[in-house]
Formats: sequence, C-alpha cells, structure tokens
Amino acid sequence: MCYTIPGKLVEIKGNTGIIDYFGEKRRVLVDFVNVKVGDYVYAQGGIVINKLSEAQAREILDAWEELFFALKEKDKKLSTFNKNISSQHLLWDILQKINRNQPLSRDEMLCILDIRRDDERIVYDLANNIRQREHGNACCVHGIIEFSNICESNCWYCGIRRDADIERYRMGIDEIIEVANKAVDKWGFKALVLQSGEDLWYDGDKLEYIVKIIRSKGVLVFLSIGERDKELYKRLYDAGARAVLLRFETSDKNKFSCYRPGRELRTRIDLIKYLKQLGYILATGFLIGLPQESKDVLINNIMLTKELAPQMYSFGPFIPTIGTPLAGKQLLTKSDILKAIALTRFVDKNANILVTTAMETLDQDILKDALMAGANSLMINVTPLQYKRLYRIYANRTGVEDDIEKQIRRILDVLYSLGRAPTDLGL
Ligand code: SAH
Repeated sequence: MCYTIPGKLVEIKGNTGIIDYFGEKRRVLVDFVNVKVGDYVYAQGGIVINKLSEAQAREILDAWEELFFALKEKDKKLSTFNKNISSQHLLWDILQKINRNQPLSRDEMLCILDIRRDDERIVYDLANNIRQREHGNACCVHGIIEFSNICESNCWYCGIRRDADIERYRMGIDEIIEVANKAVDKWGFKALVLQSGEDLWYDGDKLEYIVKIIRSKGVLVFLSIGERDKELYKRLYDAGARAVLLRFETSDKNKFSCYRPGRELRTRIDLIKYLKQLGYILATGFLIGLPQESKDVLINNIMLTKELAPQMYSFGPFIPTIGTPLAGKQLLTKSDILKAIALTRFVDKNANILVTTAMETLDQDILKDALMAGANSLMINVTPLQYKRLYRIYANRTGVEDDIEKQIRRILDVLYSLGRAPTDLGL
C-alpha cells in the first residue's frame, strides 16, 4: 500500500526545492534530509522526509503511472462547477465574488452558513472546484496512533478528561515503536501522528527516544500530545519531530477558560505560534458547536485559524459525551460540518482541510461528502483495537471495532472513487 508516491527533485534553491511527480511540480522544504538535484525523494506536509534509490522509485512509479493519470482525470470530471445553475440571487453574487478572489464580508460568510438545503450542492461544488484548482487531486493520508488515554487536564468536552470514570491505558515505549514499525513497514504510512492525553509519564527522555526511533524509519513524526512545555517541544523538534497538531479549541476566551479549567486561550495561542516559529508543520483548529455557540464564533474560529497560518486545518464537531459536564448537549448535523468546510475553503483557498474522525462519528458517510465539499486530507487510525476502543475522547467513535486493514481498504476505495491520489500536497 502507498500513501505517497516518490518524486524527483528537479531544482533546489536555498532551503526549498521542486519535486516532479509525473510532470506535476510541487514546492517543498529540503533542509531536513541531505539531498541533491536528481534524487528521488518522499515528501510529507511539504517537507522532504526521505530519499530512495532510482531503482526503487522507478518500480513504484511504473506501478503507479497509469492509475495516477486515471485518478487525475476522474477528479477533474467530478470537480466541475456548473456556472449556469440558477440560484438565489444573493448567494449567486457571493459565489461569483469568491470566484473572483474577493474577500467575503462577515454577513456574506453568515449567509453561506445559513444557506437553504436546496442551495447546499452548489456551494459544495464551488468549494470542491476551488480545492481541485488549488491542490489537484492530491490528498494527504497520515496514520495516527493513540498511545495513552491518561490526561492531566479536565476539559469539559472531553471523554478522557481527568475526572472521567473510564478504563485507562498507557502504551509502553516498545509497544508504540512496534505499532509504528508495523504502520510503516506493513501498511506503508509515511507520516505518523502520535496522539495522547496530556500524560506527563511520557517525559522528555521517553518521548525523545520514541521520536528518534520512529524518525529513523524515514517518516514524518507528527505530535499531538497537548499543551506541554515549550522546552519539551523544542527537544522533540531537535530529535526529529517535524509536525504538530494542537487545536486552540475555541476563539472565545471565556469559553476556553471555562471548558479547560485553569488554562487560558492566550497561553495556548502563544504555544501554537511558538511551535510554528520553531519550524513544525502546524495543524490547528477548533471544535464546532460547543454549547450556545453562535455562528459568529465559528467564523471567528475560522479566521483565527487562518491568522495562525497552519499547513493544515483540523476541526470537527463537538460530540457530547457521557461522563463529562457537557453530556446531553445538542449535536450538530452533517450539513453544519459541510458548510464549515466549504466556508473554510472560501476563506483560505489554499488550505489543507482535514476530515476528522469526529466528523465521521457524526455521520458514517461523511468522508466522501467532506472530500466533495472542500476537504483534502485525512488520517487513518492504526491504534491497536484493544486500545482504540478505550480512547473515548467522544462517544460512539466510528470505526473502533474495524479491523485496521479493512479500514485502510475502505478509505482508499473512497479516495480512488473520487479520483484522489494519496500524494504529498507540497508547500
Ligand atoms: N490531548 C491532546 C490531544 C488529544 S485530544 C490535546 O488536547 O491537544 C484531540 C482533540 O479531540 C482535541 O483537540 C479536541 O478538539 C477533540 N475533542 C475532545 N473532546 C471532544 C468531543 N467531545 N467531541 C469532539 N472532539 C473532541
């Protein structure tokens, strides 16, 4: 299996370079691995993460060539935007404005979030069309290992909060490495997200060791370990971690402090900015639909994410969960999420937008719809089943009983049916 194909480095200038994938060019950072023009390389998240021999690369590329062009063709066909559809006058004006690259006013953004059911398709079609123009059919596919559900924090929304009465687990260091090895060697992942609660048992020494070993497999190590010390993040960067997933959760500072007791939004934002500045590839975002949240807050969340200039947007519906103070609150609909994805695509045309598992928990079939409404990235959960079912950040998580290989197959089938290729998106 293959989640990214190799390409040939055809140009290097300073710390950036150009990779050629069957004639398609993408800009990448080249300062992480020692490379030269003419090398065949793998990139993830816009960074060259590994090189391979010409013979190895040719074998993979030969096997891919036909599929590569067939997928591209299919994606193009599925991403047309029918400009002749007659629609509500105001909405049509807004869509024209987006197409002309003019920024939207707040009222226009609200109008997108409030569109009638009949008008949803045309909005998603435009978002998908922009995704296709900006990124072609590339789709980022990362693996995720949820290695501990023990957490120091007591976030109101989260099912693994400190006070939740749930069965806890903590994967041993060797166990994490073993799962990572399998994900890389057997399933072909080129980027692995290591996610956990804020579990201080994993100190600098332990995490540094894990990062170094996994990085030595030539993959992108992506951290999602919560609000930990800046020094720790610096140390893990030096050990070879190059991407980080840290959401700010909500741009409403009062809600933030209420739902993350003892914490402040500005400290979280300061950490996110610091991580970006260190050189980490940044994935950040928010929860949608926290109790009594207005559409204005959603717009603020999208705008704040844009301001933080992440390489990837990660947001998802808040799912009320038993055993938390927010259990029993209202759940969003699938349309709410698709509209948020489309609006994000309009606000930040070049964004990489992740389909998150919370979205799939809200609606099992959302993956396809989200990818057709502007999203272009996803993660596949490779956590061993006995742990995956205990990592209950929210209720009824989708796919927790799925056999991992079955899940990988299902996702790749969806990608291919939409003409998407799991290739790197470049810078
Ligand atoms: N502890 C780490 C990472 C694990 S939680 C951290 O805090 O960053 C990963 C994400 O799960 C959080 O950022 C949060 O946005 C999301 N999450 C937590 N509870 C949720 C819920 N009830 N519904 C949907 N998403 C939730």
